[in-house]
Amino acid sequence: MIIDFRSDTVTRPTQGMLEAMMKANVGDDVFGEDEAVNALEAFAAGIFGMEAGIFCASGTMTNQIAIKCHTQPADEVICEGQSHIYQYEGGGIAFNSGCQVKLIDGNRGRITADEISAVINPSDIHKPPSRLVSLENTSNRGGGSCYDIREIEKIRELCNREKLQLHLDGARLFNALVARNETPEAYGRLFDSISICLSKGLGAPVGSILLGKKECIHKARRIRKILGGGMRQAGYLAAAGLYALQHHVTRLSEDHGHAQQIAETLQVQDFVKSMMPVETNIIIFEVNPPYTALLLTQKLKEHGVLVYAISPTRIRMVLHLGITPAMVNTTCAVVAGLQLDESGINTGFEGQV
Ligand SMILES: *Cc1c(COP(=O)(O)O)cnc(C)c1O
Repeated sequence: MIIDFRSDTVTRPTQGMLEAMMKANVGDDVFGEDEAVNALEAFAAGIFGMEAGIFCASGTMTNQIAIKCHTQPADEVICEGQSHIYQYEGGGIAFNSGCQVKLIDGNRGRITADEISAVINPSDIHKPPSRLVSLENTSNRGGGSCYDIREIEKIRELCNREKLQLHLDGARLFNALVARNETPEAYGRLFDSISICLSKGLGAPVGSILLGKKECIHKARRIRKILGGGMRQAGYLAAAGLYALQHHVTRLSEDHGHAQQIAETLQVQDFVKSMMPVETNIIIFEVNPPYTALLLTQKLKEHGVLVYAISPTRIRMVLHLGITPAMVNTTCAVVAGLQLDESGINTGFEGQV
């Protein structure tokens, strides 16, 4: 049995989801005629109390379209240094929008209104106009950390004062909402645009949705077409996304509980040097020498447990709906068992490190 913690993107559609996909009422979405896509977009916009939504192929696409919607070339985008839009979207901010980025070194992926305020450029012909602030909740490289919504309210006020647009990369926003017992509407009120991934912990095979004002989403449709992202009978995928939003949100708390259980076992192992606080479905820990992240990854793989080395010394594990309570127990046993043969492992690879 393989237990795959590399990412919450590895989920496969559940039986109920597959049935919903088979029953999708599809049409040509570029003509606006795919009822399943229209239903997903309306449902998602509705739960956030936002005006409109657009279904896209990926979270990178929804983020990139949002950035393009809100900016002009040579504008500046303000975000945290570890954010996905900066780290993992292939330089898309420069490629697609011709913008430059102002990075803030935040706290586990999160930034404050004061930190943003300090980096807004004055009106000066030498300076790129600060145009857009992008937040990430939960923060992936922040170990699944969640924002305090009161800080986001302050950021919203700042953006209103400074006439900045505010985007949320909410790839895992539902994890934050479940962990903090907050509602989608509370977030819908605060942002000009929100991107939600359906294919992470929510378990859909493909797709993200971008939410915003009607005018913004109208513009987004044009940009999606330019990027080659206009899909035809996309309703088969949208039906999976709608099913995910209707059936897989509240269960995210199970993933959070599983993450806590594994973290508790990991925390007491000698090979774990330190661990980020576990707030949602992500565990990130630093390994102790003589282990490296790669060696520990290999060792766990021998026991059927797949994890992801995100740096030479750091490992990430992500919980999702494909991980059962039994798999969590097995993983804890494997982790605790590694300790037993640790001296053997150490002498085994000491020469190589
Ligand atoms: C996964 C992810 C995305 C989108 O990734 P895609 O693979 O393009 O769907 C965006 N932001 C964050 C924080 C993510 O974790």
